[in-house]
Amino acid sequence: AEEIGGGDKEVVREYFNGTGFQRWKKIYGETDDVNKVQLDIRLGHSKTVENALKMLNDEGPLNGVTVCDAGCGTGSLSIPLAKEGAVVYASDISAAMVAEAETKAREELRNGSAELSSQPVMPKFEVKDLESLDGKYDTVVCLDVLIHYPQNKADAMIAHLASLAENRLILSFAPKTFYYDLLKRIGELFPGPSKATRAYLHAEADVERALQKVGWKIRKRGLITTQFYFAKLVEAVPA
Ligand code: SAM
Repeated sequence: AEEIGGGDKEVVREYFNGTGFQRWKKIYGETDDVNKVQLDIRLGHSKTVENALKMLNDEGPLNGVTVCDAGCGTGSLSIPLAKEGAVVYASDISAAMVAEAETKAREELRNGSAELSSQPVMPKFEVKDLESLDGKYDTVVCLDVLIHYPQNKADAMIAHLASLAENRLILSFAPKTFYYDLLKRIGELFPGPSKATRAYLHAEADVERALQKVGWKIRKRGLITTQFYFAKLVEAVPA
């Protein structure tokens, strides 16, 4: 599998095990100690998760469906998926993220299980960068991870994720059309010495081309925007 750019991946890993972990854990959490920008991003991200869940449910119940959540973060998607009975393989390059996701899953899935319609299966958590993922899954989902990949590495990343998916690939990314000035303002949310340049935006056409190259096509698209958060969400299927 191809590495993302010269040391980029190491920088990303370090960031999401350190200051990035603290920042994003707060954003993805429920506590009040967030500033206005962080709160806005929390809202935007929760809409992305909600929309992804909607897309996932559109094709029928998730009970028993295998889902690979690549770059799972603190489990924002993996946990609700498990609640719906999906068999979830959740992985992330950051050990801190995976540990947090696992702790949250244990709390939410064990305690709340009485109220749930189907018996949740604990996601299988693993510390792994997505280039090293293997196996086959009905569905592969990768939310808000592409921002760490320059376009020349994004193609290989998308091709690899598609190769793991039997039926669907759901991706979200920061679209090139928005965001540009914004990144400078929220630079602290991204890894690397020159933070604004370490966040990569993607044109929808480039993502689409990368999918087409490996025989996939986009079936559904969505756009999620708040004041400080912009994401394109696409669902791709074999063409
Ligand atoms: N997908 C989660 C969500 O939407 O809640 C987390 C999104 S967070 C902005 C980005 C995550 O991608 C971080 O947890 C980071 O550690 C992970 N990540 C970045 N590069 C990765 C890679 N090459 N392989 C696996 N995970 C990666």
